[in-house]
Order: sequence, then C-alpha cells, then structure tokens
Amino acid sequence: MGNGILVYCEFDNGQPRKTAYELLQKATSLGVGPVSALVIGGGDTSTLGAYGAGKVYVVDSPALASYSTGAYVKALAAGVAASGASTVLAAASSPARDAFPRLAARIGAGLGVEVTELRNEGGNVVGRRPVYGGKALVDVNVKSAVGIFTVRPNSSPVSAPAGGSASVVNVEAGVTDADVDVKVTETVAPANKAVDLTEADRIVAGGRSLKSKEQFDSVLRPLAAACKATVGASRAAVDAGFAGHSEQVGQTGKVVNPSLYFALGISGAIQHLAGMRTSRVIVAVNKDAEAPIFQYSTYGIVGDLFEVAPLLQKEIEKLG
Ligand SMILES: Cc1cc2nc3c(=O)[nH]c(=O)nc-3n(C[C@H](O)[C@H](O)[C@H](O)COP(=O)(O)OP(=O)(O)OC[C@H]3O[C@@H](n4cnc5c(N)ncnc54)[C@H](O)[C@@H]3O)c2cc1C
Repeated sequence: MGNGILVYCEFDNGQPRKTAYELLQKATSLGVGPVSALVIGGGDTSTLGAYGAGKVYVVDSPALASYSTGAYVKALAAGVAASGASTVLAAASSPARDAFPRLAARIGAGLGVEVTELRNEGGNVVGRRPVYGGKALVDVNVKSAVGIFTVRPNSSPVSAPAGGSASVVNVEAGVTDADVDVKVTETVAPANKAVDLTEADRIVAGGRSLKSKEQFDSVLRPLAAACKATVGASRAAVDAGFAGHSEQVGQTGKVVNPSLYFALGISGAIQHLAGMRTSRVIVAVNKDAEAPIFQYSTYGIVGDLFEVAPLLQKEIEKLG
C-alpha cells in the first residue's frame, strides 16, 4: 500500500457533512501519502482543500441526484479507480453501510467496518474496531491492493481548517437512469432539527422509567435542549411510544459515538450498550445503585431522575 488516501465525503443540502472534515483531517494526520476527496452528485467542494484534500474527484450525473445503491456503487468504483488511492475512508453512515460492502466486492478490496481508530503502521493503514457489543477491540489490517474502512462518526475531533485549496477532477462514470434501482420520490425532513444521532457530539437519552410520552417530553427533552444535545432513547422507551424509532440507540437502533452521553433511567442492557459504549464520557442517573449502566459510566448519580434532571437542567442553563 502507499498510494494515498481517498475520503468519500458525504453532503447534506449541498454542503459537506461534518464527517467529511473529520475524515479528511484524520487521513492527513496518518501521513501515508496524498489525501484526496471523492464527491458524488456534486455540491460546494470549496472547503475540502482547507481540511486536507489535495484533489477533489467529482462524479456527477442527474442519476446521482439522490442515493440509490446501484448508481452510487458504480460512481464510487469509478472515483476510486480514478484516484489510484490504496486506502478509502468513509463515514459509517446508513448509505455507506449499504454501498461499501458492495463496492468492496466489486473492486476486490478488503473492508474494515465501523472502525473507531486508524493508525499508520509502516505505511499501511490499520483500523481498530469494537466487537461483541464493545467488549473487545480488534485490529483490521487489510492485505488487498485497496483497503476500505468505514469510520464511526466522532471517532476523532475536527479542528480548525489549516488552509489550502484543492483542484477538482471530474470523473465520468457512465452512470445512467438504468443504474438507479430505487427512485426517491419524496424526502421527509425530521420534525426535530437537532443534529442526527449518529453524528451528535452530545446526547441525552431516556428509558422506560420516564413512564409516559408526556414526561419524556417535559423532563428529558428540556434537559437535552439545555445541554444543546440530541435526544436518544432506549428500546423500551421507544416501544412504549415515549420517543420515535429514529431516536432509539442500541443494537437495533443507532450506534452513536458522542463526547457526552447522559443515560437517564436506563438500566444498561447489553443491547443498549452496544449502541453507545464507545461514548467518551457517560453520565448515568439511576435510582438502583446496582444498575449495570454504572459499570460503564464515567460519572454515576444514584437518584430519582425526576429530581435529578431538573437540577441538572438548572445548573447547565446557568452555564449559558
Ligand atoms: C434482539 C434485541 C434487540 C434489542 N435492541 C435494543 C436496542 O437497540 N436498544 C435498547 O435500548 N434496547 C434494546 N433491546 C432491549 C434491551 O434488552 C432492554 O430491554 C432495554 O434496553 C431496556 O430499556 P430501559 O433501560 O429503558 O428499561 P429497563 O431495563 O426497564 O430499565 C429501567 C431503569 O430505570 C431505572 N429507574 C426506574 N425509575 C427510575 C427513576 N425514577 N429514576 C432513575 N432511575 C429509574 C431502573 O432502576 C432501571 O435500571 C433489545 C433486546 C433484544 C432482545
């Protein structure tokens, strides 16, 4: 390996997502050759150079206006070939989880999924990922000519851009409507404008113990707003109708990786831990001192959440 790193940059409303900047800076810090960006479907690429991209490969076509597996995999394969990169990085987003295993099969590349760390080992990029619900870590060392890693969002911090600009290379992938296997007819924006759970830096999550949707809305959501955090929920809270399914954290919900995770009245079942265990700081509030969540928390408060949450909210609001 050693022909540099290509970062697949996802866009939202024509602008790069935060994950694009995170991965470009991470790729630059690895020091294994030139870093370039891959953009599919167009958008404002002007900031990518300042975060480390020397070149931006753009694959565009009307058939790439919205995500569809067949068209995107074809475009990704063309972008990877044009760049000649030996390592490809992408955020472990829903579209990437769908497209990248297929891309890996198509181009004969090894794939390390959901890594949370990357390092340079003698010029090779090695990934590290949690397995068994976060109980163990494994190193993923790809031996094929091209190695692909999907990286959990928030695995490394984003610092101020260092400056610099990138040249744009348009890549013709021959993508047509015939490659579009699923047509997007409508996009429904979530009612709640908060940062997506998978990319959120702070999360305040509640469990079954909130007892009703009304209490989830009147106790947990205001605390989340005070913390400028995204709301999360255990499956028990979602199944009971207190929160939406898009807010579920865990094995059958979303895998999150914030700097700060508040777990209020959540017991810490293994399926919940599987979705949030890599959070940097975990604060648990539970009235049962023996609740499993305390084994994984950085800070634990043994108490009734209906008393603790308003106190926390008041103190956090004082900080402004
Ligand atoms: C295949 C499968 C997949 C699953 N996927 C997921 C998943 O993706 N995400 C997920 O979360 N779960 C998942 N589960 C469910 C999981 O096993 C647990 O049932 C669930 O996480 C429990 O949610 P909870 O912690 O809110 O509720 P409980 O386990 O009932 O815990 C409630 C906690 O609140 C505490 N409490 C009660 N009242 C108060 C109070 N007033 N103040 C403070 N603390 C209080 C209690 O001491 C207790 O610890 C899955 C299960 C299976 C079998």
